[in-house]
Amino acid sequence: MAELKIENNLRHDIRQELFDREWEESQANPLIVGLNASEGLRDTLEELSGFSKSFKSSGILDIMECSDGRVNGDSMLSQNEKLGLAGSGILFSSSENEEFVKNNKGKLKIVTSHDECGAGAIKFADMLKKGESLPEGVRTSDELAQYFAKKQAALLGAEYHHLEKKDFSAEIHNERMVIIDGTARFNAHQVPDLPPRFISAALGLGVEVDYVAREAEVLAGISLGDHGFDSRFTVENPFYIIIFATGQKQLTDLGEALTNFMLSSQGRVKIVGMVVSSEQNN
Ligand SMILES: [Zn+2]
Repeated sequence: MAELKIENNLRHDIRQELFDREWEESQANPLIVGLNASEGLRDTLEELSGFSKSFKSSGILDIMECSDGRVNGDSMLSQNEKLGLAGSGILFSSSENEEFVKNNKGKLKIVTSHDECGAGAIKFADMLKKGESLPEGVRTSDELAQYFAKKQAALLGAEYHHLEKKDFSAEIHNERMVIIDGTARFNAHQVPDLPPRFISAALGLGVEVDYVAREAEVLAGISLGDHGFDSRFTVENPFYIIIFATGQKQLTDLGEALTNFMLSSQGRVKIVGMVVSSEQNN
């Protein structure tokens, strides 16, 4: 037991060093520097190489991956047009998912699951708590996430892929922000200078603002707790919720839905948003 304890402590130290290193690296990121200096979202983004060409010109992005910032395509995918949704929709209620499938059937090419899915873990714990029975053959949260994504792909008429840990872009949750993409056209891979981020395109896929706010809170919660940068987020260095809206009303509605969460963070969460015109494309 003593040996195990030492090993765990060591791992904890190594993990914290990794978090420190990743944090320092992201502190120099041009978007973080600009936002921390209150230079304005649009102005700062427009200075980043590739941003002006980062919105798909027609239709929506069609490779659905978890919002998780460590998941950014895999070797099987020739393109990296990630459309982010937590657990590919595993946190939807059944009626929300029915609506989602109805609105998006036939629009997506690929739906994915991935190793160590946090959204899957939340859903798994919730089902156990409510005494709901797990699907046949499912014993772990990752198996549940895979079961769900496979089913979701079939419902949407898309191919299913699973992304393995070896394909992750980072070992730890190093996200500095969540980008809420109300256009479902924002291709983050076009902008190499973006910091590590969660992406949620639920708003752009016609999902209700209440869910979009709930999902953003779950994702921010990962970063603000000990799975992420945790207490490194402060008033001076907040976690950013960035909103790309298709109009002023969408921006205002979502901002209102997130107000209580922002206030409860005591300055550790900051919301910034902009309206993206339908002409902004590549
Ligand atoms: Zn996930």
